Amino acid sequence: MQSVLDYLTAHRARFEEELCEYLRLPSVSAQTDHDCDTRATADWLMKHCRAIGLKARKHTTDFHPIVTASTPKRAGRRPHFLVYGHYDVQPPDPLEEWDTPPFEPTIRKGAVYARGATDNKGQHFAHLKAVEAFLQTGSELPCDLTFVIEGEEEVGSESLVKFLRQKKKDLQCDAVVVSDTGMPSKKHPALTYSLRGVTALEVTVRGPKADLHSGIYGGSVDNPALVLCQMLAALRDKRGRIAVPGFYDRAQKLTRYEREQMKRLPISAAQYRRLLGVKALFGEMGYTHHEQRSARPTLEINGLTSGYQGEGSKTIVPAWASAKITCRLVPNQDPCEINRLLKRQLKKLCPPSVKLEIEDGHGAEAYHVPPTGPQAQVALEALREAFGHEPVILREGGSIPIINEFKKVLGADSLLLGLALPDDNLHSPNEKFDLDCFHNGAEMSARLWPKLAAI
Ligand SMILES: [Zn+2]
Repeated sequence: MQSVLDYLTAHRARFEEELCEYLRLPSVSAQTDHDCDTRATADWLMKHCRAIGLKARKHTTDFHPIVTASTPKRAGRRPHFLVYGHYDVQPPDPLEEWDTPPFEPTIRKGAVYARGATDNKGQHFAHLKAVEAFLQTGSELPCDLTFVIEGEEEVGSESLVKFLRQKKKDLQCDAVVVSDTGMPSKKHPALTYSLRGVTALEVTVRGPKADLHSGIYGGSVDNPALVLCQMLAALRDKRGRIAVPGFYDRAQKLTRYEREQMKRLPISAAQYRRLLGVKALFGEMGYTHHEQRSARPTLEINGLTSGYQGEGSKTIVPAWASAKITCRLVPNQDPCEINRLLKRQLKKLCPPSVKLEIEDGHGAEAYHVPPTGPQAQVALEALREAFGHEPVILREGGSIPIINEFKKVLGADSLLLGLALPDDNLHSPNEKFDLDCFHNGAEMSARLWPKLAAI
């Protein structure tokens, strides 16, 4: 192990140069005029994987290629782990807000600035460097590793989902390691073990067949905008609880261990309030802001539309009103069931004076791997050793759809060991990746494999 760690230290400068070379390639998956660049990035990645001693292949798909790279196969059954990442990046616009051009990586104040630096090139590159250290020092890697690096994460991962089904046999594994989440600070390296699910719907209430003159007709017909507001307002009580019967029935409760661990997270309620710029925080009573935003289910109105929105006034009773609603879900809540319960309640709340229409949107289950499991525990050990600080365990409020696919198709759990800092500007101008996170991330990866393989 020591020779692996020494190698990582000795070659830091070169690793940074190589990362910059990778970041110079504008692999914007959403923009067709970058299709050539995206293909060139896949080629560069494949060649790089081969150069460090991996067996790499580029797989063509209906859209952007997928690159896989495996450690040389050894005889006998050894544990097999996947490392997932994506080489595609978000569009860099608005360009004028970048201090240095997005595809001319620049190192300043210990971080590399470029589009894709954290999301996600830098993060999976750290894992590649760890494996390079094993292969180039002739150190025995006690497991087989396969990197799966896709080019469509920022546009929905459609090809990867198909690819997982096609290559299901080759990709059978004991766990997937993903560095595409974050940590609260460099002193708080983190394992993310839970992600919320989601269910979405759009509700419309229809009144008169056209907008009516409110002076002539107002008062004799119901106002769809008011009706919808009253219905929506009845979906949450004063204590911040969602007032849909059955909504919380299956919601997994936080364990004492989890609540205790959450107390160690660095951002206080006051700091959080200032960060968001709100007058006061509001959430389900009995839970901290960390718990509310990541471990409790929610209902939000995402959009609300009705009547006249232009300049000045227009005295009408609008013909219709509509709202887009999503619920964030916690483990054990079934998106279809919650969707059904919500529809039932909306029907109950709807008066006979209007017509109710509901359209279903997307849905995804929550993801959860107990942080007390053996794989999670060794991951925490690797984080502690590499970063020199006691790691925290995190729940994330949003979802990462591909993680559910790994579970569904391969039956594998994912270890989410994110290296992004809160101010890394993902998807924004001046995206950066902290170089300590890069090098400590590579060390964490190197320390992880022997531990995982020994379970
Ligand atoms: Zn992204």
